[in-house]
Order: sequence, then structure tokens, then C-alpha cells
Amino acid sequence: MDTNLPVTDKPRVVIVGCGFGGLRLAQALRKAPVQVVVVDRNNYHNFQPLLYQVATGALEADSIAYPIRKIFAGQANLFYRMADVERIDPATNTLTTNVGDIRYNHLVLATGSLTNFFGLESIERNAMQIKSIPNALNLRSFIFQNFEKALLTSDPAERQALLNIVVVGGGPTGVEISGSLAEMRRHVLPKDYPELDLQTMQIFLVEAGPALLGPMSPASQTDAKRYMDELGVQVRLNTAIKGYEQGRAYYSDSEFIPTANLVWAAGVNGAEVPGLPTTAVTRNKRLTVNQWNLVAGQTNVFAIGDLAHMVTDDMPQGLPMLAPVAQQQADHLAANLLRLLRGESPRDFVYNNKGSMAIVSRNKAVVDLPGNIHFRGFFGWLTWLFVHLLTLVGFRNKVVALVDWAFSYFNSDQALRLIIRPFRREDIQEDPGKQHAEHLTATPEYMATPPAIQTPVNG
Ligand SMILES: Cc1cc2nc3c(=O)[nH]c(=O)nc-3n(C[C@H](O)[C@H](O)[C@H](O)COP(=O)(O)OP(=O)(O)OC[C@H]3O[C@@H](n4cnc5c(N)ncnc54)[C@H](O)[C@@H]3O)c2cc1C
Repeated sequence: MDTNLPVTDKPRVVIVGCGFGGLRLAQALRKAPVQVVVVDRNNYHNFQPLLYQVATGALEADSIAYPIRKIFAGQANLFYRMADVERIDPATNTLTTNVGDIRYNHLVLATGSLTNFFGLESIERNAMQIKSIPNALNLRSFIFQNFEKALLTSDPAERQALLNIVVVGGGPTGVEISGSLAEMRRHVLPKDYPELDLQTMQIFLVEAGPALLGPMSPASQTDAKRYMDELGVQVRLNTAIKGYEQGRAYYSDSEFIPTANLVWAAGVNGAEVPGLPTTAVTRNKRLTVNQWNLVAGQTNVFAIGDLAHMVTDDMPQGLPMLAPVAQQQADHLAANLLRLLRGESPRDFVYNNKGSMAIVSRNKAVVDLPGNIHFRGFFGWLTWLFVHLLTLVGFRNKVVALVDWAFSYFNSDQALRLIIRPFRREDIQEDPGKQHAEHLTATPEYMATPPAIQTPVNG
């Protein structure tokens, strides 16, 4: 198959992934003397921080996604192809995709991350994940399907398992989804399911580490735990779910929590594309990059965002997998690409940490700002809403989200409890983003010389 990209005498920059990093980079190259080719398997940009709200019926899926073609309408130097990138051949500067090959002068990998099940197959087979819009819609359907089933069974143990929800991973996603489910249990489910005794429904938040919200301040960790207690979420710290069999989430060989609803938010791996030398790939499948986001051992392949493992003096473990990191790296790489085109040396990336926040439920959020500033409660909650509303792509999406939030706030209701496409596990196809490479140990290798500008490519 031919991807029918126009022949050009300008250098071609191919960006794989139109998430936070890829989108920002492509926009920043709007006026650059290059041909920009954006490749993404989905024809929309997905605002992942609000996925949990889609999963719990608070927001419509459409309001956290935006069509890629609409974003770039009018950007004359940009071409988009909806395609799955299957392999990179750095020797020939070629990408293999499911719709044909694409050649590049400069390649930027912005493919983000995938759920990490840590090799626990029983969990991978049975848990619900929350990395994409289909995941979020599946989770929404699945929980409500299990409530419908709970009405039909006369076996108390089975009913209990259908009502119980176990969320694994006490990071922001786990905290946000547990809080949202607890709100739903308090305000929504009693109205919809008066025949069920919802006092018996239990929500567990299980975290392998000693605190919730691991990377945040101790004050935020303590506040989040207190909020969880107030909401009736049972937090189990220093506990790892190791397996799942027949409606039981095991945290030791014999101890388990009965549940039909296992939600896995315990970790991510880089969404690696096969083909680059294994020495550039870290243990959790990210790509080792230098301070210009250049992939170790490569001269014209860059990685940004969640996929990029960049170590700094302040963060020897690597920069966090957060949207602002992806966006700042995108801006910086755009400027560096222009420098390279002018024959100048690239500059080192410096991360500007603007803080972090997590929402727990209505009027409850925690915020950490640089300079050890911490706040919480209603003001934290307002800050969270404001920042997320501001960063949501598209005016319509902002308005729809605001209306949905206002409706939920004043009615204590979540409007979107629809099972539009019932979830059937057998319907889940092999994840196209599933990784093929082995787990590998990184050998950090930083390039000492700027990457060369290469001759234009065709086709
Ligand atoms: C539930 C959840 C909540 C989060 N909350 C927050 C938050 O509150 N604040 C925050 O800062 N961060 C949050 N994050 C993290 C944040 O979303 C990521 O750090 C950010 O999305 C990384 O941006 P990226 O550009 O690297 O990748 P992504 O935004 O993940 O984009 C990757 C893109 O690549 C495409 N792609 C992947 N592989 C291929 C392939 N082989 N071929 C073609 N296309 C491909 C995907 O379709 C996707 O569009 C959250 C993440 C999740 C999952």
C-alpha cells in the first residue's frame, strides 16, 4: 500500500503519536520549513487525565477527544495518516505501518505508554484498564452490567463479589477513580438500584507502597488518605495484588478480596515501537534519550513524553510520565529542530516543574506547587477543575465538560449511566499497541554530536 504522501524537497519530520507531546510538536512546527507527517492509530487526540470521568459516567467520551484532522485544518505543511506504526528501520529511515511504509528525515516517537501488568497473566486476562477511551467505556459498561447481574443472583457471595470494586494502584488515577466510585455509591446507585443493599458494597484501593499519591508531598498523601476514609474507601497500603482467579483478587497465596470488578491502575510501560537497538530500551520499555530528546545511539530519531526516559540532576530516576513533561519537551524539540536546520547546535532541555494535583471527589482535591506550597479541599478542587478545563482541547469540549460538571455538582448525579455497547471480554481484540520487544536493561548512551540534517525523502 502507498501512503500517498506528497513528494517534497523539504526535510520530512514524521511524528508518531498525537497525544500531548505529538500534538504540541506538530503545532509548534506550523511555520517551520519542513513537511510534518503525523501518524496515529486513532483519528482523535485523547485527553487522558479525564478518562476516569468517562469510566464513571461523569463525562461523555466525545468531550475528552478531539478529531486530529480538525486540529490541524489549515496547517499547510502537515499531513496526517491514520495508521498503526509496526516497526522502525533506522538503517533506511523507514517506518512500517499497517497502511504502508513512510520514510523520514527526522523521526519523533511520541507513542506514550501502555498498562504494565508486571507479567501477571491472570490479572491481564481479567482486569479492566484505563488507558484509552474504549477502556473507559468498557469499564463503565462492565460495572453497570455487574450491578444488573447482582439483582438477578440469589447467591449472597456472588452478589457481594459483583458489587465489590477493587482498584489497584494508589497513584492519581487510582485515587481519582476510587473517589469517583465512592461518590457514585453515595449519590447515584441508591437511586438506580433501590433493590440492592448498597451498604454492603465495598470499594478497595490497594497500593503496594506505603502511601497514596507516591510522588506527591507527604501533606497531599495524608490528605488523600483522610479523604478516602471519609468516603468509605478501604485503603490497603503495602499490599500487592498478585493474581486473580474466579472472582478473587489475591494479595497472598491464601488471602483475597472477592470481586468481579478489578480495575488495574498500578503502572505503565513505554509504548515502544520495535526496530531500534535494544541498548536504547529501558527495563520498562521507555527509550533512553539525551537532553535533546535524541534516542541513545541514533542521529535522527527522537522520543518525547511518556516514551522518553530522560535523566536529569534533579530527577535521577527520570522525568515523570506527565502531560506537562510531554508538552515542554515538544516545545523544546521544535526549537531544537529549527536550530539544527539552521546549522546551529541544539540546546539542553530543562524541565519546569509547575506542580502536581489530584482530585478525590467533589470539593476534595490536593495540590502541590513548587516552593513546598500545598493546599487542598474546595480551593484545590476548584484549581483542578480550572486547570483541566483550560487544557481540554476544543471550545465545544470545554463547554460540554463544564455543563456536565455543573449538572453533576448541583444534582449530585452522573447522567451517563448507559450501557451502550455491553462489554464482552471475548470482544477485546489483541491490543494493537501491545509490545513485542523483550524487557531489556538500559545502557544509557548520550550522543556527543548534533544529529545531521539528512537529504529529503520521497514517498
Ligand atoms: C487515566 C490517566 C490519568 C492521567 N492523569 C494525568 C494528570 O492528571 N496530569 C498529568 O499531567 N498527566 C496525567 N496522565 C498522564 C498523561 O496523560 C501522559 O503523561 C501523557 O498523555 C503523555 O503524553 P504523550 O504524548 O507521551 O503520549 P499520549 O498522550 O499517551 O499519546 C500517545 C499517542 O500515540 C498513539 N500511538 C501509540 N502507539 C502508536 C503506534 N504504534 N502507532 C500509531 N499511533 C500510536 C496513541 O494512539 C496516542 O494518541 C494520566 C494518564 C492516564 C492514563
